[in-house]
Formats: sequence, C-alpha cells, structure tokens
Amino acid sequence: MPERSVTFFSNLLSEAQITARSVADYMGGTGLRLGVTGLSRAGKTVFITSLVHNLTAGGRLPVLRASAEGRITSATLQAQPDDAIPRFTYEDHLASLTLDRHWPESTRRISELRINLEFERQAGWRSRTGSLTLDIIDYPGEWLLDLPLLDKSFAQWSRETLEASAEAGRAGLAADWRGGLQGLRLEDAFSETAARHQAERFTAYLRASKSDRYALSTLPPGRFLMPGELEGSPALTFAPLPVTEGAAYGATTMAGMMERRYEAYKTHVVRPFFRDHFSRLDRQIVLVDALGALNSGPSAVRDLQVALGDVMQSFRAGRASRLASLFRPRIDRILFAATKADHLHHTSHDRLEAILRVLTARAITRAEDVGAKIDVIALAATRATREARVTHDGAQLEAIIGTPLAGERVDGELFDGVAEAAIFPGELPADPRRALRGDALAVPDTEADYRFVRFRPPVAQSGEGGQAKPLPHIRLDRALQFLIGDKLA
Ligand code: GDP
Repeated sequence: MPERSVTFFSNLLSEAQITARSVADYMGGTGLRLGVTGLSRAGKTVFITSLVHNLTAGGRLPVLRASAEGRITSATLQAQPDDAIPRFTYEDHLASLTLDRHWPESTRRISELRINLEFERQAGWRSRTGSLTLDIIDYPGEWLLDLPLLDKSFAQWSRETLEASAEAGRAGLAADWRGGLQGLRLEDAFSETAARHQAERFTAYLRASKSDRYALSTLPPGRFLMPGELEGSPALTFAPLPVTEGAAYGATTMAGMMERRYEAYKTHVVRPFFRDHFSRLDRQIVLVDALGALNSGPSAVRDLQVALGDVMQSFRAGRASRLASLFRPRIDRILFAATKADHLHHTSHDRLEAILRVLTARAITRAEDVGAKIDVIALAATRATREARVTHDGAQLEAIIGTPLAGERVDGELFDGVAEAAIFPGELPADPRRALRGDALAVPDTEADYRFVRFRPPVAQSGEGGQAKPLPHIRLDRALQFLIGDKLA
C-alpha cells in the first residue's frame, strides 16, 4: 500500500476510535467537557482561575441555581485525566492573583483541569444525589482558525495568503516578507536557512498585522502566533510560495519541501488538535475582549467581528467540507462573553452585552445550523474595581475605584501600582450600533472617547483559616448557570 493511503487509513481508524470514545463518554452521563477559548488576552486564564476558585471555595453564585439553593455538597479538584495534556496550573494562577496581586501568565497552549461536583438533586428525580465531572479545556482561539486548512492544498493556501497580503491595509506590513520572495526560485535546492528566513519574515508579518496598532484579523496558520509546545520547532518552518496549482515540484526543491512541511503541519498539528480535543467538547465559552477593541477604534471592532465569524465557522464545520465534518463537535451550548466588565460602571454592563450581541449577530446566524443553544453575556471573572459616586467640579459622577497598574497614566498622572484612583470610565452608548461606528462615548471633561485604565487584581480578603475568600466577580454565576446549570438539576 502506498505510504499516503496508510496514513489516511490510520487517521480514519483513530477517528473511529474517537467516535467510540465519545459515545462512551456520553453514555456515562455525568461528564461534561467545557471548552474555554478566545483570542490571546481575552481573559481565559483569569476566567478559569476565578471559576474554579468560586466553585471550590464556596463563592457567592446566586444565579447558579444549585448554588443558590445550597444543593452543591462538594466541589473538588481531581487528578488530571489525560496524561498527554498539561494540567491548567490553577494553584500558581490563584497565588499570583491573590498573594502577589499580579495577573497570571496568559494561555499559550492547551491545558486541562478536572473538577468533581457532588450535589443534591431537585425534587422529582429518582436518585437524591448526583455528581458531575467537569473537564475544563483551555485553548488559544487562534488554533480554531486552522480548520479550513485541512481542505486546502499548499498552492491554494499560498495563493490566498499572498492575495490577502497585497490588500491595502496589509501590503506595507508584508513588504519585507514579500521582498524576500523575489530572490527565491521554486526549483532551487531546498535550504534550511532560506526556509527559516522565509518562515521568520512571514511570522513577523502575521504578528505585525495583529499588533495593537493595526489590529487586523488573524490569518492561519494559528500556531505561527500561538505556537504552544511547538515554539521554534521545524513543524513551523514553512511559508507560502507562489507555486502553481497542480504542478509537481521535486521533493528536494524549495517548493517541494515547503509543500511537504505544510502537509505535515496539517497532519501532525491541525488534525490531532481537532480530532483529540475540539471534537470532544460538549459546551463552549468564547471570551471576547470587546472593551479592548472599542478602546482601539472602529477598525479593531470590525476586525473582531470578522474574527468571531471565523471562530464560529469551526462550530459549523462540515457543511461544505468532508474532512472538517469529521471533527465537528457535538457542542449543544455556546456562550459568547465580553470580559473585563469591571472597567465599566454597572449602568453600562447591559450595554456592553448589547454591543457583543451585535458583534456576534453574524456568527450567531451561522451557528443556527449547529443546533446549539447560544447566549451572550458581559462579565468580569475577577472584579478589580468597586463603584462610587464622586463630586467633580460640582457634578455628581459615577466612578470606579481601583489600583491602576504601575505605569498607567490618567490626565498626565503616572500611577505607581500602589495608590488607588477614582476613574470616570465613560458610558457606553445605549444604541450598540453607535459604539460599533466608533462614535464618541461620553466621558465627562476629557477628550478621550472611552477611558480604559488597566487595574491590578483586587486585594484578597481572607476567610476561614486564613484562606483567600473567593475572587469577586461580575455575572460569573450567570455564565455558570448557562454552561452547567442544567447538569446540576
Ligand atoms: P488569555 O490570554 O485569554 O489567557 O488572557 P488572560 O486571562 O491572561 O487575561 C489577559 C489580561 O486581561 C490580564 O492580564 C488582565 O490584565 C486582563 N483581565 C482578564 N480578566 C480580567 C477581569 O476580569 N478584570 C480585569 N480588570 N482585567 C482582566
């Protein structure tokens, strides 16, 4: 049998095994695999840390019905179920938040954590007690953008990527990488050094497009920006080339070798992620830094809208693609959550939710044929501010008070990371479409549209036995009720 067929056959076999395992998971009835994703800095690490802390340390979760009714009898961390996946380093992240008052290190790769919840059932069930094994799977949203590659040849991906890089907003950023292509001949003998240069310049272009200044949408391959354990590995040493569709390039030529590496990336990086992790998720929360985008301006907001649509494509994969359909998850609930709502006064929380609803409207329409229940929420997994009414030039203003991070500046004042400050964050407009158009958001007495100051995590309060009290939050309980509430009935 030729080598290609063997690979294909073995892939099909392992995919069949996955399906069998999924059925077994399902029949068990008490397990739930919750995916937590979002683009880099969306708030995944902080969300998981606070969620676990609030569940295991008895946090105030009034909207999570089982918690409000006092039916959760225990919530404990369990041994890591998958030996091959790193554990989410919950204890380190919690210590960072509560002991050091520093935000924890952000998600850079996939990780997992298991919690077991024991609870009393609501009246009407035959058995009085129930248990839920909740597996939380944290992974970079950038990786979801790789799914379409499975159906694309090297020539097709190269053509699309080169075309995109010629567009007005990108051409300047891509100039260095594209310049390097000029001196390269496809039939030249493969050189590792030349391949590395190409990959480095191509990655620099992708990274520049994503920088705060340009905030363009993320293009695949997702691992070029979020390499996880593949950082510096040859699996990422390739780049698009202007190859001709259908042409055969010698195995030792530049074009032949780059094509081989692209195919290896699909086989050894993209497929295993979708097959082993993504396709096994039951529920998903997609965290979105909508405030960050609003703060950066209308082009960042439009870009976020596109990125959310792209992310959503993964959940409906299979409509147009045979390969991708193998990895379609059986997700039945998806929650989009705008994070860091503690940067706003509570009067703007519903408005932030409305903005996210507009931002995700296209993505949600697409999700209709996924058959999943979808909701949208604004939350703060860890509330770093409190609210106050402050008199300013004779007027009563709604302010938020927190400790700005060292180096933050407001009205020329430089903060040292110790002093507290009252900030007037401004109000989000009542009409969400105004925010998306970039219309000024009302901030009293300033020229800024919307004032975004980064705060330190809150001072930890000690509870019984000197342990830190559960992290304060905004609407984390609402998110939990949607994501797991029905499993605790
Ligand atoms: P990840 O890349 O998705 O894992 O993002 P993180 O969870 O590391 O969050 C990125 C940054 O956003 C943090 O370092 C904080 O500065 C900020 N952040 C995240 N969640 C919150 C929150 O609930 N409140 C506030 N004030 N800041 C947050």
